[in-house]
This record gives sequence, C-alpha cells and structure tokens, in this order.
Amino acid sequence: MLSDGVKIEQRSLFDSLSDLRVPQGQASLFPPAEEKAGKAVEVPKPSRDNEWLGITDLGELRKHVVLCRSCPLRDGARGVVFGEGNPRADIMFIGEGPGRTEDETGRPFVGRAGQLLEYALKSIGLSRGEVFIANIVKCRPPDNRLPLPPEVQACLPHLRAQMRIINPKIVVLLGALSSQTLVNPSIRVTRDRGKWFTKEGVEYLVTFHPAAVLRDEANKKKEFMADMISLKEKRDKIQSGR
Ligand code: SF4
Repeated sequence: MLSDGVKIEQRSLFDSLSDLRVPQGQASLFPPAEEKAGKAVEVPKPSRDNEWLGITDLGELRKHVVLCRSCPLRDGARGVVFGEGNPRADIMFIGEGPGRTEDETGRPFVGRAGQLLEYALKSIGLSRGEVFIANIVKCRPPDNRLPLPPEVQACLPHLRAQMRIINPKIVVLLGALSSQTLVNPSIRVTRDRGKWFTKEGVEYLVTFHPAAVLRDEANKKKEFMADMISLKEKRDKIQSGR
C-alpha cells in the first residue's frame, strides 16, 4: 500500500447516527420535500471530505453512506450502491454511477458492462475479488443519464473516503466522468485513453467505460484490452519495485 495516497484535510466527523439532524439554517445541498414544506426531518448532513476521516473501515463507512440523502439521486434509486471488492486492493476501478441492474442488486458493474469488466480482469489474471470496484456517485441517475455536477460534488466525499481507506496504488478510470473528476477536467477519453497520470502518489489509468466499449466494440474493444495489458504491466512493475 502507498503511504502517500490521497490526502484529505483532517477535521471531525459525526460521532454517532444521533448527530445526523441538519441544523436549522444549514440546509442540505438538496433539501427534501418535507423540509421545504417546513416539517422537521431527520436527514444526514451534506457529505464533506472531512466528515469521514475518523473512519478507517469500509463497513463502518458503508453504514453512514447508505443513510445519505445529500442529493436528489437517492429519491429515484432503490438504494445506495456502495461498491465492492477487496478492502485492501492495490487496484480500484471507478465508473460513473449505478445502472438499472446495479440499482436492483446493490452491486456495481453486474450487468453486461460488468461482464465485460470481469472478462478484461480475467485476461490479465485478476478477479473481481482482488480489486475494488466503485462509482463516482452511489445512487442511480434516472434514465441512466450522467450524474450532474452538483450530484458529483455531493457524492465525491464518499469515494474519497473509500480511496483513503483502501489506499490503492493504481486507480483505473472508466470513462470521462471519473477521469475528469479525479484527475483533470480537460481529459478526453478518446484522445487520452491508455495514458497514465500520477497524482498524490497514486497511478491513474484513463480508459473507456465498458458500456462505451459494448456500444462500439469494433473500434473500442481492442484498445480497452490493450489498456488492461498496460494495467498489468504497471501492476507488475509496482509489485517488483521497479
Ligand atoms: S448519490 Fe451519493 S450524495 Fe447522492 S444521495 Fe446517493 S450517496 Fe448521497
């Protein structure tokens, strides 16, 4: 594990679930309908990076995230898709947001795109259980649209907390949203796929989202699989200390 992974400013987090009331005058990013109507409601505070610093265990973090109502996506989703895999993984894969199958099952990348991801992992000798798979937002956007910027900002602290706890050496960015959000807004996947970026001691690989590969296999699958080989080479290099 890297010792200088993603750094997050250290402050407090809520100590218990009884501390989840939004203080008067401090509205959540997207107040629920009951709050707008003037009724007292118990909802989690908006997510902020510093709220999760005391949590060092993914299971504990999950308990907080599943209660999140910090953006409207939760209203249209069955539940929160937290992410899954090895909590001490050296490699994380990060997509955009849950689709219908993911929303139904509560698991990331389990539809056709997930099958392609598993196939790609297998091609370089990895399995789902060896890596950690997550998304930029944890609740399904309606009609499988991309998450909106306020939704991304609302949910990002959850992902940052996951990354801080897992402390991966390598993060594979599946598609434009994760690439632009976590590395650089100027990234264009068609131009930059296959490139590596180093940020705060973590190696980031930009590649296609598997769903995009499925939509255009003739042009994208070969490049996607080439990116997996690049991933394997990078992992081998890191493991051997070269
Ligand atoms: S998408 Fe993220 S920020 Fe929005 S409600 Fe779900 S967990 Fe909370």
